[in-house]
Amino acid sequence: VTASGFPNSRMAGVPLAGGIREILGLAEELERQGRSIVHMEIGRPDFDSPLMAKEGAKAALDAGNVHYTDMAGDRDLRRAIAEKYGREQGLAVDADRQVLVTVGAMEAILVVLLTLLEPGDEVIVPAPFFPAYSDQIALAGARQVTVPCPMEKGFRLQVDDLRKAVTERTRLILLNSPNNPSGAVLAEEDLAAIAELAREKDLWVLSDECYEKFLYEGRHRTIAALPGMAERTVIASSASKTWSMTGWRVGWLVMPKEMTPYAVKCHQNVTSCAASFAQAGVALALREADDDVASMIDEYRRRRDLVVRYLKETPGIESVVPEGAFYAFPNIAKLGMTALDFCMHLLREKGVSIVPGDVFGSPGFVRIAYCRSYGEIEEGMRRIGEAVRELQA
Ligand code: PLP
Repeated sequence: VTASGFPNSRMAGVPLAGGIREILGLAEELERQGRSIVHMEIGRPDFDSPLMAKEGAKAALDAGNVHYTDMAGDRDLRRAIAEKYGREQGLAVDADRQVLVTVGAMEAILVVLLTLLEPGDEVIVPAPFFPAYSDQIALAGARQVTVPCPMEKGFRLQVDDLRKAVTERTRLILLNSPNNPSGAVLAEEDLAAIAELAREKDLWVLSDECYEKFLYEGRHRTIAALPGMAERTVIASSASKTWSMTGWRVGWLVMPKEMTPYAVKCHQNVTSCAASFAQAGVALALREADDDVASMIDEYRRRRDLVVRYLKETPGIESVVPEGAFYAFPNIAKLGMTALDFCMHLLREKGVSIVPGDVFGSPGFVRIAYCRSYGEIEEGMRRIGEAVRELQA
């Protein structure tokens, strides 16, 4: 028996199948049946977390740091976050009034949407996009307006298209650079043009910078550092990808100080705070683990080049070179099947698990995550090439 009114309209808008987790579940089921599976579906880095972060968390536990932290996050971690943005981006961030420590970037993004949006507001999201955005926008009762970024243009956001998508109801533009799943990085001139649009139309920008360290050329620049943008930009980021700390569940927001009390209120009613000892470990990573990041990025570059080489050699697949993050997003439309059918075929016949582009708002594409070991990626790409050649024979 289902009580009437269930699910409510917000949950009814949230799809329950076909996403990254569901594909992972199918792959794990096959693995339990004894199949050899190459996991290239989930963005879960394979490195260990930095030693100093692990020791810091253990020391925090031993020192009795086992209680609630401030609802806005442990003060020392907030300071480390503020220092990071001063050091790397030249931003003057007030640790006491502009920073909120969250349970990963996932919670950070939801908190922003719940804090800023009225039901019926529109959020502009360039596609392809991280699928949780759609669910979280639905949970906030708002409406997603999608602006496609064409592969032919390197998945570069076309700012003219962005401008055309703005209506009276637009409240927020959601940016993600480097991008999951395309690997595209916003160019300086595009950031400037988006900033101009946001100022002119009085819009908020939510900048999801989870992959800020994963750039294979150049340095990350946040839109918040552009003139007049700090007061209308919220940066969301986390330790998850940067230091291979996805299970620690520590992320953060940096926002205009007027917004912070409301965001903290929202956060404290959902999670209270992130785990105290995890926050202690992340503060150490932020201050001392830059070298760990640099060596990981070198390895990711090697893996990216491997994936790109295989994709180039595979007939019928079109792709561009990802500039950042750790995903490739090739187009498989020429194979004459849907992305979901291709992914299911690949999983069942070859034991390679990748994700259909539909969940990222881009049918005809598939996402290949290269955050696995070099050897696994090589084997996965070999099997993908084999499957494509057989399908075309
Ligand atoms: N934003 C993007 C673009 C992501 O790819 C992810 C994770 O895959 C998240 C946010 C969530 O990150 P976290 O694990 O810190 O919650």
